[in-house]
Amino acid sequence: MMDRRALNERMRRKRRQLFMRRVIHLATYVLALALVLVFVIRGIILPILHKTGREDPAETQVVQAQTAAVDPDAAIRQSLMGQADLEKVVSMTPGWHEDSNGKWYRNTDGTYYANGMQEINGLTYSFDENGYVRTGWVSKGFQDLFFNEDGSYNPGKRKPMLALTYDDGPGQYTSKLLDCLEEYNAHATFFMQGQNVAAYPEEVKRMADLGCDVGTHSWNHPNLYDLSSEQIAKQFSDTDDALIKACGQPASVARAPYGNGSQEIYDIVDKPFFLWSLDSLDWDHKDVQMDIDAVMNGDLTDGSIILMHDIHETSVDASLQIIPMLVEKGYKLVTVSELAEAKGVNLKNAAYTDFWDSSLEAGNVAGYEGNPAGTEEPGEPSEDSSGDEGDSDEDSGGDVEGSDDYNE
Ligand code: ZN
Repeated sequence: MMDRRALNERMRRKRRQLFMRRVIHLATYVLALALVLVFVIRGIILPILHKTGREDPAETQVVQAQTAAVDPDAAIRQSLMGQADLEKVVSMTPGWHEDSNGKWYRNTDGTYYANGMQEINGLTYSFDENGYVRTGWVSKGFQDLFFNEDGSYNPGKRKPMLALTYDDGPGQYTSKLLDCLEEYNAHATFFMQGQNVAAYPEEVKRMADLGCDVGTHSWNHPNLYDLSSEQIAKQFSDTDDALIKACGQPASVARAPYGNGSQEIYDIVDKPFFLWSLDSLDWDHKDVQMDIDAVMNGDLTDGSIILMHDIHETSVDASLQIIPMLVEKGYKLVTVSELAEAKGVNLKNAAYTDFWDSSLEAGNVAGYEGNPAGTEEPGEPSEDSSGDEGDSDEDSGGDVEGSDDYNE
């Protein structure tokens, strides 16, 4: 009996030992498995995930850089896999998509267009930096392009245009005026006296660089009716010499002192001559508010030419307010030659008073070749207009009609 009990006791101990050993083995296996899993996840899977996540934006930048080198205005192909694109990943069919932020285009390769212009099915679209189409007015260099509600470019739509012209300078206030024109992406025409040019060569150079028209107003403002043909020719050739010395080019446009011209004079000088449709009378006012009122309450019909004088401080101070106000009202401020070109006028040795559609249609404008582009009604500027495409003066590569013609 004793032996049997002792045997039983030993058997029980043995079983417990075996059980404990199994438990320890199992625990070891589990621990080892856990360690292996942690190793695999932390050492292999996570690094792969991180790597993919990090490579994505880098790849996009490469694409961006390459695109920019070819055409700064063309849209880039943006990858869909960035973390900010979760909404876009949801719908994966190629083509046009729309969400609460607007319309965007998915390519078959999974990219979408962003940050520039792109032609799709024969129509041109402008995409913002997030890949949504822009609508309304979009600035591109000096140009303002109109994009319809569906995002497609409308080449027939132009802002109403005005030509600000400044006579008798250049002078000590001219550079302040140039600052303002530059700030508001505006151009003006300067009809300068040759005798003033040598004192302000930097201003004249800057006019040309900004895309303003370099114009002539004779050497020293005589009444041309009192001069011989030779004297008239010398008034303008001497001024051209001074302009060439200052900015490398002669005057492309002219204005007779007091507006006293004739076909004979235009032919002698061999340039297109410009009168005006709106006289600010600034030389008489010498008052900032009166100048502002004269322009802002004047006839601002699309194609108007406005007369002012940048030799007067009051005229320049008024212009510093007039220019932003006109831009805000939706006008495009252009030079007389830009105005002529936009209206389909091939400038002749003739006198031009305005480029109103009514004058063009009535046959009063020399060199009019028909079919000026349509214009937007003046009014409040579009909320969709955006200046952030306007850093480059380079052309878009022929995607957009008329894009080759500015800033020459
Ligand atoms: Zn004058």
